[in-house]
Amino acid sequence: MVKKPAVKKPATKKTTKKTAKKSKSESHAFQADVSKLLKLMVHSVYSEREIFLRELISNGADACDKLRYEAIQNPDLMGKESDLGIAIAIDKDNKTIAIGDNGIGMSHDELVENLGTIARSGTQAFMEMASAAKDGDDVNLIGQFGIGFYSAFMVADKVEVVSHKAGEDKCWKWTSDGEGSYSIEEAVGDDARTRGTEIYLSLRDDALEYLEESRIEQIVTTYSDHITYPIALDGAEPRQLNAGNAIWTRSKADITEAQHKEFFGAVSGVYSDPALTLHYKAEGLNEYTVLLYVPGERPYDLFDPERRGRQKLYVRRVYITDDAQLLPAYLRFVRGVIDSEDMPLNLSREMLQDNPTVGKIRKAVTGKVLSELKKCATNDADKYAKIWESFGPVLKEGLYEDMERRDDLFELARFRTSSSEGETVSLKDYVAGMKENQSAIYYVTGENAEKVAQSPQLEGYKARGLDVLYLSDAVDSFWVRTALGFDGKPFKSITQGADDLENIEPETKDDEAKKDEGAEDEISALLVAMKDALGDKVAEVRKSTRLTESPVCIVAGAEGLDRNLEKILAQQNAESMSVSAPILEINASNALIKSLAGQAKKDKSSVSDAALLLLDQAYILEGERPEDPAAFAKRMSDVLTKAFG
Ligand code: ADP
Repeated sequence: MVKKPAVKKPATKKTTKKTAKKSKSESHAFQADVSKLLKLMVHSVYSEREIFLRELISNGADACDKLRYEAIQNPDLMGKESDLGIAIAIDKDNKTIAIGDNGIGMSHDELVENLGTIARSGTQAFMEMASAAKDGDDVNLIGQFGIGFYSAFMVADKVEVVSHKAGEDKCWKWTSDGEGSYSIEEAVGDDARTRGTEIYLSLRDDALEYLEESRIEQIVTTYSDHITYPIALDGAEPRQLNAGNAIWTRSKADITEAQHKEFFGAVSGVYSDPALTLHYKAEGLNEYTVLLYVPGERPYDLFDPERRGRQKLYVRRVYITDDAQLLPAYLRFVRGVIDSEDMPLNLSREMLQDNPTVGKIRKAVTGKVLSELKKCATNDADKYAKIWESFGPVLKEGLYEDMERRDDLFELARFRTSSSEGETVSLKDYVAGMKENQSAIYYVTGENAEKVAQSPQLEGYKARGLDVLYLSDAVDSFWVRTALGFDGKPFKSITQGADDLENIEPETKDDEAKKDEGAEDEISALLVAMKDALGDKVAEVRKSTRLTESPVCIVAGAEGLDRNLEKILAQQNAESMSVSAPILEINASNALIKSLAGQAKKDKSSVSDAALLLLDQAYILEGERPEDPAAFAKRMSDVLTKAFG
């Protein structure tokens, strides 16, 4: 059955047509970023130009969504024309294709604002990523950056937008060849249209394939089938190209993988297969349908607080907002739709913040998402490892933001460790592998796993076969501080507090090393001499059981904060906080330390340069700068001169 197009077909026009009454035209320059973007789009990156149609249809559907939402408060905006939809018309003679919608439309100022600038910062980032992108990757960027309209210039050398905003008298025409400027004039006579927007593309000579109905049909079914408004093609035989119903209302069995992929692309901007799909209907006190996806890869702006397009809230198929915080922030990578059957339609977006139904939905759906992740972790560890790799740093925010779910999140968490060789392990596995007398879950924090693996503090743990978690994400220092423990075992930093390795014997019978320690009285003399030389720079100098190879390392006091956390906090409150002086530990069986100890016994002051150099060396291993690089360099060359001079 062929449905009648909901929208009057956009009359494709001769591009040279004169308006009946000439109106005044104003010329505007594009924002500099737009010009750059257009150049990039037209001349280099995009291999799959066909996505221009997907973007324009999506804009048309958004415009219908907006109108339907506004008309709840103000029915006059809808008027008699309440069948919303999108229509495409091809004009082979004039080599134009037109895409129309009878949605909200744009006023004069909105045309300037929306089609002359790029709302979001991040264009620079886009440019960089686009130039670096491999063929095929680039198309994913357009959706993610929200610059869809401009993709029209990939296929057109002239674009005309005629728009009539709902509720306004005047209709406007925006015209551009994409070369740096555009003009706006009032559309009158034949040029004018009723409510909504029409976009006319004068196709480039190398883009004439888009004049073929079959090509258009193929693009629409590939990318836009999920659009909930009818998409009509006004060709030889007018017909509707898409299914036109909301995908989440269909039964599970009726949705193909390809359709999920398409819809996931539409809600996430990433056109690849989702890693997980969660589709169900909740019944009972609150009735709603959920269709959510966990993406297969990390989006470029995962940590951007302004990140767009979160989960979308619908009420009985009417789009309300994507800003209702349907899931907690630590699940912000999850994309999709929740459609409520029982919330009132005339709920303002502002009121959603404290809406009790939203609260209940959030709670229930959060639980569902976490249990779906758990299921995946159990059934498909490889797939889960990938998900964790992409989104673990965000999920971990929940460890301090959502106390109620902390245990669930601990179950989901995966860590690289000192013995895991790049693989990740769960806390459950870690605890199962704990040694006799091991009382805590050990961890080390730092910038990245590679650097953390170099920490000298690890040596004594490795020698005893004790596994240590590598915490190298920025959020780690935060949750680990407040975490009480897992499975009754506390978390303990290996760079903090008095050493508790004494109760555990090294695996490699290290009696040799013990015997090999410098004489007790000499080591004591060295401890005193070093503390004298270092003064306030350190809280204490003491003998270490943590080290087996390196001469020295620094650790924080038992009561103090983990050093890494202290550094982060100090960076955030630059004036009000400084990092407290660390404890310097020395390795009494290290050859250098032993000979220094001999020296110190004879003459305390003879080791002061060495003490300062060793402290700087310890800082460098922590990824920090020596306190005074010039003094460090001078001391270093003095010592070398003595040795070789
Ligand atoms: P995005 O749609 O991701 O915001 P676009 O560059 O595609 O980015 O569009 C910019 C803005 O222009 C949209 O956010 C919308 O406000 C407006 N716009 C584009 N097309 C239409 C349309 N057909 N009807 C109404 N407004 C539109």
